[in-house]
Amino acid sequence: MTKKIAIIGAGPGGYVAAIRLAQLDAEIYLIENREVGGTCLNRGCIPTKTYFKSAEIMSDLKRSNEFGIEVDGFRMDGKVLQRRKKRIVNTLVTGIEKLISSYKNIEFIPGTAMIKDKNTVSVELIAGGNREVQVDNIIIATGSTPQMTETKGVDLPRVITSDELLEMEEIPKTLIVVGGGVIGLEFASIYQELGSQVILLASRILKDADKEISRRLTPLLKKQGIDVYVNIRAKEIIEDGDKLKVVAKYKEKDEEIEASGDYVLIASGRAPLIKGLNLDGIGIEYSSRGIKVDDDFETTVEGIYAIGDVNSKGIQLAHVASAQGVYVAEKIMGHSPDINLDVYPACVFTLNEVAQVGFTEEQLKIEETPYKSSKFMFGANGKALSLGQEDGFIKILAGRDDNKILGVHILGPHANDLIHEGTLAMANDMDANAIMRTIHAHPTLSESFFEATLGLDDAAIHIA
Ligand code: FAD
Repeated sequence: MTKKIAIIGAGPGGYVAAIRLAQLDAEIYLIENREVGGTCLNRGCIPTKTYFKSAEIMSDLKRSNEFGIEVDGFRMDGKVLQRRKKRIVNTLVTGIEKLISSYKNIEFIPGTAMIKDKNTVSVELIAGGNREVQVDNIIIATGSTPQMTETKGVDLPRVITSDELLEMEEIPKTLIVVGGGVIGLEFASIYQELGSQVILLASRILKDADKEISRRLTPLLKKQGIDVYVNIRAKEIIEDGDKLKVVAKYKEKDEEIEASGDYVLIASGRAPLIKGLNLDGIGIEYSSRGIKVDDDFETTVEGIYAIGDVNSKGIQLAHVASAQGVYVAEKIMGHSPDINLDVYPACVFTLNEVAQVGFTEEQLKIEETPYKSSKFMFGANGKALSLGQEDGFIKILAGRDDNKILGVHILGPHANDLIHEGTLAMANDMDANAIMRTIHAHPTLSESFFEATLGLDDAAIHIA
């Protein structure tokens, strides 16, 4: 008998799970109360990356003289920025809608879902009325929403989250960013290039990154022109005429600063979206970290799964949500999914990109894993110099005795593409020798990866 599955949420977790299930001949109800593509396509990955490209162009224009190009006068047009973003988002959303509708065994239901019991999902239809579907399994893929801090004054006008900032045509003259995680840093770096004066107030810079990366990223953010304050917490936001003033206190000293700006972006993390699902009613356990799941993403109620941002695994990345979606789809259909979910790249689109996979040096030290480390600076790479992007490095961590790659950390040009060589190696348990015996094209940034790997055996050619 065909299995029937309800998927709640059509973000990169939900819609990918739906397609994989459809390929495996299940019957799927895909329920979504906003747009297909979820946060990622509509309010996350894609909108920010359209802005990132504009930021890169602005950065190039500012230093065009270096490349022998004289440019007289240029400025950012926020209206065009918005229009371009909307066009790209629309192209992708429409594409995914078409893709979904090409599977006759996926029924898309626009509405808000609530789990009635382990085999019944009730949908409050956007068009009005209610509908109930009877299913064998349920996949919760409802994602997350911006989380506000408890800082006094966060409810003031012009104190915004990423959702609102991405809808604004205005490029704020001064933007105060509260938060040094991925989202805070991306917006800080992008808006500084788009024309804002950005003030960044962060308790830490990329807390999960290798320490050497966060330490070296901070001066690069300052070099970009951002006013960076670390080890600091926003205490209060106050209206000050037509400005907003953020009072922030250093964590380890009894000192405060006041930052004044036009808008305050709160980028203090994202909370799992579980409201209205009736988790308590059916006995699904959860915490502020998300819905509790086991290694197969099954919740505490048999047959109900939770994938992506909403589960307690705490990895809020689109590609991880999709991978979990495929895994659960295959599992439900009785297959043995062959996906290495332990190895995944994490990328930051600051102007100087940051990417990492695997362990940080600090984690290896804590776990007392014997390791060796090798680093190649982009300053010694011909392609990076031609691009004018010589800041940063590639660092590779490998097992001291077996050369197994344990972690890769990149700061610099195209870090977010370069990371995949390390990801491929790690996901397939390859050792560094596999990379060492692979000829890399010249002149490319990938040569830096090659050289960093050779360095593990003191065999790098271009490291003195
Ligand atoms: P979501 O994408 O959030 O989708 C969940 C969907 O479920 C939503 O459409 C929601 O409307 C729907 N829903 C919720 N409740 C119900 C209900 N009761 N009934 C019906 N539908 C419901 N990740 C990256 O990997 N790379 C990036 O560059 C990146 N950049 C980001 C930038 C920003 C500014 C933000 C905010 C996030 C970014 N992310 C990025 C994170 C990424 O967007 C998320 O990890 C990803 O979208 C999670 O996918 P998901 O399917 O779990 O949830």
